[in-house]
Amino acid sequence: MDHGRDQTGGPREKCGVVGVSLSERSAARPLYYSLYALQHRGQESAGIVTHDGFQQHSHVEMGLVGDVFAEDDLDQLNGTAGIGHVRYPTAGGVNTCCAQPFSVSFKSGSLGLAHNGNLVNADEIRDELEGLGHAFTSTGDTEVIAHDLARNLLEADLVRAVKKTMERIHGSYSLTISHDDVVLGVRDPEGNRPLCIGELDDGYVLASESAAIDTLDGDLVRDVRPGELVVLDRDGTGFDSYQLVDRDNTAHCFFEHVYFARPDSVIDDSLVYEVRRTLGRKLWEESGIETDVVMPVPDSGRAFASGYAEAANGTTAEGEERPEGDDGVEFAEGLMKNRYVGRTFIMPTQDERERAVRLKLNPIKSTVEGKTVTLIDDSIVRGTTSTQLVELLRDAGAEEVHLRIGAPPIVAPCYMGIDMASREELIAAGQSVDDIGEQISADSLSYLSIDAVAEALGESRADLCLGCVTGEYPYDIEGETTDRDVERPQIGDTSLVADD
Ligand code: AMP
Repeated sequence: MDHGRDQTGGPREKCGVVGVSLSERSAARPLYYSLYALQHRGQESAGIVTHDGFQQHSHVEMGLVGDVFAEDDLDQLNGTAGIGHVRYPTAGGVNTCCAQPFSVSFKSGSLGLAHNGNLVNADEIRDELEGLGHAFTSTGDTEVIAHDLARNLLEADLVRAVKKTMERIHGSYSLTISHDDVVLGVRDPEGNRPLCIGELDDGYVLASESAAIDTLDGDLVRDVRPGELVVLDRDGTGFDSYQLVDRDNTAHCFFEHVYFARPDSVIDDSLVYEVRRTLGRKLWEESGIETDVVMPVPDSGRAFASGYAEAANGTTAEGEERPEGDDGVEFAEGLMKNRYVGRTFIMPTQDERERAVRLKLNPIKSTVEGKTVTLIDDSIVRGTTSTQLVELLRDAGAEEVHLRIGAPPIVAPCYMGIDMASREELIAAGQSVDDIGEQISADSLSYLSIDAVAEALGESRADLCLGCVTGEYPYDIEGETTDRDVERPQIGDTSLVADD
């Protein structure tokens, strides 16, 4: 059946998730603070679902965390266990139906689900469940997972039910789940999206990023492993781990480190800020160019530019030690950001996006006037930001503007949870780097190599999802090629609950 979505899930879930289980304290405020810490992962809607041992409580609304919850709302979210979610806006508008956590009550209890990622076979599972009488209220993947899990829970214990659901769903998912007052965390077998475990004085927390754990004064315990189910103890004293699905390779999203995650988060054992600085250093090694100043596109280019400038002050562009008296390059903040302008990227029309770049960034004339400039950003998607900024710097008097990008060219869409624009909109799809440089009127343009990204992350290419920069995905996606042997679960009318 057609739900008005493509097979990649139409309304994609680009989000932040949390879950907490405390010994006595109410979970609502820690959940609220951790959602605040994850606000960068989603600004469209926010929600919390708690359970007080008898009953589930839910508050989910469109808007930013600070606007969605009033004191009263938090007071009514009773219970020491709960989950939370922030949802990323999709291009072209808001989508009330898909605000999360999704909550449902059924025969064997109540379920709450918060999902970051994107399934590629949700429609098939939905069709089958609808055929079996399940009624869906939204078009999102999350409800599909919830129904499948609810069904499995009628016939199996919690751990087996989650395992059976994991064997049916295909794609990327980091989930926090509440089953009555038990909080669970699940990370897909490829570990595409991040999820980590933190310890608090009086309980445990699961979160998309460790920055949320820091906000609660907790300690990062570790990442949830790919294919692992973590079940937090009801009394907040610990957690149990079940490795439910094993794969030979992971498919960590490199773009989390490049752009999406907070620089102060530790993901899969690496501090995002340090990875970005390393990427910046590699950028200098691969394509450094001697200019008067190096400047970041704030905020996303900052860590890259600091690594790039540090490397530039150590060695020349030819890789030789700087001679005595050669001061290297000047690291300057040449663009000021208006922090009250939201993300320009998600503005629906090109005209609006261009206007918004101007609103958002303004050059400091004295740092660029009469100078040769290297401008550093993390990525180019449509090319709107770079084109505008090159023009802006030239208008402010820059003699030359060279662009260095801390990621490889983005040539293909992301199906796994990051809103990247369609292939037609991507400036690097089907164009050489020289042609892109010309199109954005830069004096020169260089991107970072894929190998440098893998090295900076300390991972082999086979353990990364590089779909957006290679056009080959670690999943079986209709109409796209895959870069590995993947088994897509066959959804049929066989028993939904297979034997172990
Ligand atoms: P564009 O102007 O379309 O080339 O977008 C590139 C700019 O958007 C860069 O400054 C990036 O930091 C930022 N960016 C990259 N990916 C995303 C994304 N998925 N969502 C929002 N902004 C992004």
